[in-house]
Amino acid sequence: MSNKTLITKAKIVLLVIFLILGLTIYRFQKPQLVQENQFVLGTFGQIHLYTKSPKSGNKAINQAYQRIREIENSMSIIISDSDIYQLNENAGIKPIKVTQDTLNVIHKGLEYYELTKGAFNIGLGKISKLWGVNIETDNKIPPAIPKEEEILDAKKHIDLYQLEINNNELFIKDPKMSIDLGGIAKGYAVDEAVRTLEDLGIKSGFVNLGGDIFVLGSKPDGTAWQMGIQSPELGSSNVIVKIQLRNSSIVTSGDYQRYIEKDNKRYHHIIDPSTGYPAENELTSVTIISDTTIKGDSYSTAAFVMGLEKGLDFIENLENTEGIFLTKDKRIYASSGIRDEIELMDKEYKLFK
Ligand code: AMP
Ligand code: MG
Repeated sequence: MSNKTLITKAKIVLLVIFLILGLTIYRFQKPQLVQENQFVLGTFGQIHLYTKSPKSGNKAINQAYQRIREIENSMSIIISDSDIYQLNENAGIKPIKVTQDTLNVIHKGLEYYELTKGAFNIGLGKISKLWGVNIETDNKIPPAIPKEEEILDAKKHIDLYQLEINNNELFIKDPKMSIDLGGIAKGYAVDEAVRTLEDLGIKSGFVNLGGDIFVLGSKPDGTAWQMGIQSPELGSSNVIVKIQLRNSSIVTSGDYQRYIEKDNKRYHHIIDPSTGYPAENELTSVTIISDTTIKGDSYSTAAFVMGLEKGLDFIENLENTEGIFLTKDKRIYASSGIRDEIELMDKEYKLFK
C-alpha cells in the first residue's frame, strides 16, 4: 500500500470518528428553550419551543409568525385590503375573491353555525361592531351601551344564508350584514402555526394566541404539559384547576376576558345571537380541550352562549372534544372524558361529577 493511500484511509477513519462523536454529542445534548412573543391578530402571541438547534428553532418561530401574519392579512377587520374588510365593505355590492385560508375558515364557520344551531355565528359583525367587542377594535370604540333599537335592527342582519360562495368568491347579499371572524380566526392561526413548526421538525413546544393554545407533543423530559384554568375572579396567577395535556389544544372563553361595566352590570364580548346582547347565564368560563384549536375557539364561544346544561350536552356529544365549565357560584362541571383528570387547586370551588 502506498503512503498516499494510507493517508487517505486515515483521513476517512478520522472523519468517521468525528462524525460519530458529533452525532453522539448532539444526541445527548439537552433541548433548549427558544421563544418569542409578537403582537398578532389583536393579541399577544407567544411561541415557545424546545430544540437542540436554537438557530433552526428561531427560524421555525419566524416562519410560524409569518404564517400567522398571512392569516391576519386575509381575515383582519381593520386591515383595509384584507378579504374580510373588502367583503364587508362590498356587502350587497359585489363578490370578492378571497384566499384559500379565508375560504377554509368561512367553511368551518358555516359548519359550526349549523352544528351549534346558530349559537356560533360569524355573520354577527354588525352586532359586535355595536358592542365594540371584536378583539382588533376593542378599546378603540368608546365603551357605550348600544340602544335597544340599534341592537334589534342589527339582529335582523345576521343570517348566514345571505353569504354566497362561488368557488373562491364570496358575496354578502344583505348590504347590512358583515362577517366577524374574531371567534374563530385565532384558533385557525394557532393550528397553522403548529403545522408550520411540525413541518420543520419541531416536536415539543406550544403556540398561544391570547389564550387559544396548542401544546405540541410533551415537554422535553417526556412528561405532559401542565395547563391551568385561571380564576375568573382573581386573574391568571390564580389557578382553579390543573390538567395534564399532550398534543392537544386548550381554549377558554370567559366573561372576564373583555368587558365594559355599567350600573353594576357586566357587558362582555360573547354575544348571544338570539338576543343581540352579551350571553347571560350561570357561566363565567368554558374551556375546551380538543384535537384542533379552531374547534376549541369556536366551541368555547358557542358553549358559553348555550349555557351550562345545553353547552355540556353539546360537548358531550362531540368526538375528541372535552369541556370544563366554571359557574358564577364556583361550581365546576366537566364532560365525562376529562372529569377524572382534573386536579382541583382552589378549595372554594366544587367539582361536580
Ligand atoms: P372568543 O374570545 O373566542 O370567545 O370569541 C369572542 C369573539 O368572537 C368576540 O370578540 C367577537 O368578535 C366574536 N363573537 C362574539 N360572539 C360570537 C358568537 N356568538 N359567534 C361567533 N363569534 C362571536
Ligand atoms: Mg372562541
